[in-house]
Amino acid sequence: MPELARSVYLDHSATTPVSQHALQAMLPYFSEQFGNASGIYRQGRQAKQALEEARRTVAGVLGAHPGEVVFTSCGSESDNLALRGAAWASRQAERGRHLIISAIEHKAVIETAHQLAAQLDFDLTELPVDGKGRVDPDALTAAIRADTVLISIMTANNEIGTLQPIAALAAIARQHGIPFHTDAVQAPGHLPLDVEALAIDALALSAHKFYGPKGVGVAWLRRGLALVSSQTGGGQEGKHRAGTENVAGIVGLAAALAEAEAMRPAETPRLLALRNRLLDAIPALIPGARISGHEHERLPHHASFLFAGIEIQGVLMGLDMAGVAASSGSACTSAAQAPSHILTAMGVSAIDAAGHLRLTLGRSTTEADIDYVLEILPPLVARLRKLNR
Ligand code: PLP
Repeated sequence: MPELARSVYLDHSATTPVSQHALQAMLPYFSEQFGNASGIYRQGRQAKQALEEARRTVAGVLGAHPGEVVFTSCGSESDNLALRGAAWASRQAERGRHLIISAIEHKAVIETAHQLAAQLDFDLTELPVDGKGRVDPDALTAAIRADTVLISIMTANNEIGTLQPIAALAAIARQHGIPFHTDAVQAPGHLPLDVEALAIDALALSAHKFYGPKGVGVAWLRRGLALVSSQTGGGQEGKHRAGTENVAGIVGLAAALAEAEAMRPAETPRLLALRNRLLDAIPALIPGARISGHEHERLPHHASFLFAGIEIQGVLMGLDMAGVAASSGSACTSAAQAPSHILTAMGVSAIDAAGHLRLTLGRSTTEADIDYVLEILPPLVARLRKLNR
């Protein structure tokens, strides 16, 4: 591929590069310190020590007990473990069969909940959201039944950036004695994640969203949460997740999480200022453009827009040709494809949903990058609209 004069990466909600700090922490565990953490000899003990150190680091960031931290292969697996695990446990104990999620969850939650409904006969309530993507706590209260076994509502939405009132929702769950899970995959480095302050019971993270490696995640599961493991085999990870641990990945995850948390106080206002320039300027510069999701109850690095009357694929290709990596935030980028379930739940029409653009900023993003996007995006959209007429 030819080298572009300019490269601006604005898809940090999709994935982030591994930070130097995380990379350096991981490197020895690919070679010199290659032991299997189950081994009783020196190399095994070294790996085990690294694993437990990583567990303590993650627990420290979450304000949790190390024994509650389960390392998985990704955010999707962590979501699966919590949902399937709680559903199976309730089935085994012949407790309830009702699950509550929101209508705008990531597919890792939605598809899992749908499968539990289809195959294990669970009743599923998908809470609606308002036009900005927020769940109403009163709607949660109204949806709770005597046989509700788990509530799962995401901390922050990947596509529209909207934050949910997690502490208020979790408080309602707790009043009713129902475990509360949150997919917090988009949160680290952007939001505080104190599980006690939030009073939640389970949470999912994924390292590649916070400058750690791909292929490693966290399921935080409160002690005492009734759960049947879906991945069986060896007794690793407190019998919650069988399989030889990805020690290098786990060490990288922990280093990246601690680093993201340490950088959060300085990065958040910097990203907010840059992101707010996009939120203010794009609707002003581009006729028919509006913000999707909430204007301020949103992730600080996340900007997203609906462009009336345009298919976003052309915009994404035009941006790519100009060296800017961006996305629609979902798998579908054309009116011919099924519209995003998130935008649909917010009441956006299929035609409008095809014109969704997500720009997510990160550590590498500069003022000059924002200037550049604001310079090239309006004429690009105008050109495509003219072509489509
Ligand atoms: N949940 C949310 C909110 C996400 O944004 C993602 C990834 O985009 C996932 C879950 C899945 O994470 P992973 O890619 O680690 O499986």
